[in-house]
Formats: sequence, C-alpha cells, structure tokens
Amino acid sequence: MIITDVHMHTNNSGDSQAPMSDMVSSAINKGLKHICFTDHYDMDFPYTVSGEEGMFELDLEKYRKDYESNLSLYGDKIDLNFGIELGIMPTTYDKLRDYLKDKQFDFIIGSSHTCTCRDVYYPAIYEGRTDVQVFNMYFSEIYDNICNFTDFDIYAHLDYVVRYAPNGDANYKFSNHAEIFEAILKRIIELGKGIEINTGGLRARVSRINPSEDILRLYHSLGGEILTIGADAHRPEDVAYEFQYAGDLLKDIGFKYLTYFKKRKPEFIKL
Ligand SMILES: [Zn+2]
Ligand SMILES: [Zn+2]
Repeated sequence: MIITDVHMHTNNSGDSQAPMSDMVSSAINKGLKHICFTDHYDMDFPYTVSGEEGMFELDLEKYRKDYESNLSLYGDKIDLNFGIELGIMPTTYDKLRDYLKDKQFDFIIGSSHTCTCRDVYYPAIYEGRTDVQVFNMYFSEIYDNICNFTDFDIYAHLDYVVRYAPNGDANYKFSNHAEIFEAILKRIIELGKGIEINTGGLRARVSRINPSEDILRLYHSLGGEILTIGADAHRPEDVAYEFQYAGDLLKDIGFKYLTYFKKRKPEFIKL
C-alpha cells in the first residue's frame, strides 16, 4: 500500500474549499503516514476570466499558521509537511528566486499551468493553432523553464496541457513529442530533480494519469529515480485517489521506490 501523498491543496489555494484539517483527517482515515500540503502560488498569473483575479495568490503567513496548528493537533498521527506548488513562467524566474530566498519549505513543486503567459485551462491558446502546435509550445516552455529556474524539487504533471485540450488527448501522441520529453527528462535527472505521477488527471475529462505512461517509461529507462506521487486533491475524498492503480503501474514499469521530501531533501520508500 502506498502511504504517501505529496501533492494536495487546501482552502489556502483559491481553487479549493477544503479546510486543512479535513484533508489531514481523510489522509489518516485512508492509512497514509506521510503527506505534504502544496498550495498554489502562481506569481503574475494571467487571469483569463473576470472574477478569478488573485485566485492563485498565496497568503503564506496564514498558510503556515494553518500548518502549524494542524501539526500540533495531528503531528503524532501522521507526518505532515509544508510545501508549495509554484507556477513557473519565463517572466517570473528572477522574481521567484527572490521570493524563495527567505522561505522554508519541505518540498517545492514546479508547475506549468500556462504557456506563453496564457492559462492553458482555457481554449483561447488553441485559436489559430493545431493541438500539436500548442502541445509543442507548452513542452518547449517547460524545457526553457528548467534551463533557467531550478529551485524546485520535482516538476509536476509534465503533460498537464493535454488535460484541458479542447479535443482531450485525441491529438496527443507521445511519439510526436518524444524528443522534447527526452531533453526535459535528461535535464531533470542531471539537475538531481524529479518528476511526479499525478492521479488528478484520472478525475479530468482525459481520464488518465499525468504524465502519460510513455513518459514515465522513458524517465525510468533514462535512469530517473526521483519520483513522487500525488493525487492533486482539492477535496478530502480525493486524497490518495487511485493510488493502487498508480502503484501497480509504477511497479510494472520497473520503479522500486517512491520519493518524498523533508526540508528539501529526498527520502525514499519502497514501492
Ligand atoms: Zn498543478
Ligand atoms: Zn496541484
């Protein structure tokens, strides 16, 4: 059984209503031993829809206080860790480095929720472009990001763009992008960083894990070892969502360990 889930949100994220204590209770009830909160901070996020402004800002002080009070309530029942999911864009590399200078996290997830400063959750970016062109733009931007900004521990949901494509994954083929994935994964391995298996996509329209199995297989074949697991839960019931399936898949690929981070240092547990 998988006892760790290191990608989850609470009501400190603008897109979650869940009190932190409800996420903790769900994790305890599901038998988890180790979790990490990774609330969103997408600096300078390009809001597409009015009413969403500020949604991916983070009140870090409130978030930390919330963490500390949960730690004192539940710290003897489950290992609670304090992380962040940072949205990375080419316009924010320097500002993010500055932001992180005096902050202490157990775990930093790097994410691309945007491409060319547009929110890929909305279809506007596909206007005048094929799906494959947008996917290429998105993957190339991830590569640029990891060449210019390295203050993260793992890069999340590498093919997130496909999750919200207007045609779902109908026009997504691993072989169209194999070269850029290889470049991304080699760079991540060189940096001593990792990737995640994110089961959030199983609840989305495309209904599959992110990244796709092909990418996980490539990562393993290139010698990638740092791999975290997260359900990307925004609601208590989604903690550890479909982890049995994810664990079986990882074992089938040949992974032997999962990783979690404490004070930014990787720890390994047997799969
Ligand atoms: Zn994300
Ligand atoms: Zn997330």
